[in-house]
Amino acid sequence: MKNPFVFIFLLVVAVFAACKPTESNVSGTAILITNAHVVDVATGQIAEDKALLIDSGKIVSIGDGSELSALVGKDDVFDAGGRYVIPGLWDMHVHIEREDLVEDNRALLPLYVAYGITTVRDCASDLGELVLAWRDSINNDQLFGPQIFTAGRKLEGINSIWKGDLEIANEEELRQMLDKLDGYNVDFVKITENTLPGDLFLTSVKEAKKRGYKVTGHVPYDLSVEELATAGFSAIEHASYMLRLGSDDSGIVDSVRSGKLARSKAGEVYSSTFNQDSAFTRYKMLAELGVAVTPTLIGGKQLAYLDENDHQSDAYLKYLTDRFTSKYQWRIDRMAGETPEQKQGRKDRYQLIAEQLPYLHKAGVTILAGSDAAALNTFVYPAQSLHEELVLFQEAGLEPLTILQSATINGAKFFNVQDKLASIAPDMEADLVILNSNPLEDISATQDIFAVVNDGEYLSREKLDELLQQVQVIKGKLDEERKTE
Ligand SMILES: [Zn+2]
Repeated sequence: MKNPFVFIFLLVVAVFAACKPTESNVSGTAILITNAHVVDVATGQIAEDKALLIDSGKIVSIGDGSELSALVGKDDVFDAGGRYVIPGLWDMHVHIEREDLVEDNRALLPLYVAYGITTVRDCASDLGELVLAWRDSINNDQLFGPQIFTAGRKLEGINSIWKGDLEIANEEELRQMLDKLDGYNVDFVKITENTLPGDLFLTSVKEAKKRGYKVTGHVPYDLSVEELATAGFSAIEHASYMLRLGSDDSGIVDSVRSGKLARSKAGEVYSSTFNQDSAFTRYKMLAELGVAVTPTLIGGKQLAYLDENDHQSDAYLKYLTDRFTSKYQWRIDRMAGETPEQKQGRKDRYQLIAEQLPYLHKAGVTILAGSDAAALNTFVYPAQSLHEELVLFQEAGLEPLTILQSATINGAKFFNVQDKLASIAPDMEADLVILNSNPLEDISATQDIFAVVNDGEYLSREKLDELLQQVQVIKGKLDEERKTE
């Protein structure tokens, strides 16, 4: 070809033709969603009256409904009727846990999807290997549920109160357990501090980072938040730890290490010396070091207000087996002897933690929305609690767009999969929620779901209700079976 411009022109035409969906490159299972207001969660822009062509689990094209409708069968067109489409929601902190709740947990997987949650991050449990297997089965379309990212089992010290931890006493055991997690092909590493000494905790963070893992977890009293952040901690679970940054964290940690201050007394010192300005300054340090925070407000809120809220008639209980809810009792028992002052203290502490969210956001810290839903977390109901968490974020003063980001793209960025998940654009995986009202005006709109697209499959409200009905049936059956055991 003599003229290079002609060549470039033809190339552009060829590329354009290849990108544009035609009947020949759309499969028989493709679907089209029309009249959708598409929410761009990165910018907060809404593209009105768009059609989304979805094929083989992916968004193929976003465009004009009348043009694209020629590519799919009549029965495969779904009218969103001017409703709002957002990416499927991510719950960045759940635990699929307890060896005696395997069937119970499996029954809840479709429920997540019915609640618009198409991805969960499982933050480790005693069912580690099973959750890993479920993750793979869901990815292979052998099991129906949300996409799972999981830590498998978490690292802890010897004789931890949590069941099923990988307990380590030294660096050799740390290496063995990291080898085990490598073998499991976990998605990240979780570490908690029940009995794990601070120095081995810090080494664990560094060694897991060396192996390429994101590392998240709690903050021990004998380690400062800054030490963890500097060592490459990817995210801090629970915003309660943020309060430490309002005090002389390093100084208090030194006192704990030298034995001058008992761990059991450290909490009081932090509470009595909290300063909001100091906290805000250090939140900027967290932001600079790229440490995200998963606030998990709802669990603390449920416990703090247990005396005011009667959960006995919660509608959600119809989905949970008696055995599942029996696990709630331990936290209730643990709080039974609390004085009125202690009860008020819990509420004040909850409010102070919630108040940190706007400061964290303003400082540039990435917020990950996670519920901490788990059998052991009292009244933190799987799936529903994420929606409650989002409302608590709004009550704490975050803007709906920021909240939506915390429950979509921030999760995808955490796992570095934002180029295929959690945005609405061509080539993205088709996990979507269609809402009856605009979530950018009020985040509680996420609770009013018209339809869900999970892995490219359109699930109407009717279908979602069927899924929920099935969960109820399984609950009834399991309760009945266990009565006669
Ligand atoms: Zn947790």
